Amino acid sequence: MTVRTQHPDPSILCCDSLRAALQIECEAHDDPFDCPDSLIAYNEGLEQFALIVHDGERTVVLIRFCPWCGSSLAKGTTE
Ligand SMILES: [Zn+2]
Ligand SMILES: [Zn+2]
Repeated sequence: MTVRTQHPDPSILCCDSLRAALQIECEAHDDPFDCPDSLIAYNEGLEQFALIVHDGERTVVLIRFCPWCGSSLAKGTTE
């Protein structure tokens, strides 16, 4: 089974934990919002990371720092 990921270039992500969180390894759910195992959503258009709130809707809480290692997730502010 192929591991899919929400991020177009996972190699640039700050840590393995975030990389793993953005992988979609569930066979039952295609959409990360449908899967209770899914923690993080990445919006490619907005280039934003968000925590998925599993309330049955597509609610997210935007995050600017990695929950695991604390690195900034905002684009262009890695220094
Ligand atoms: Zn990280
Ligand atoms: Zn699932």
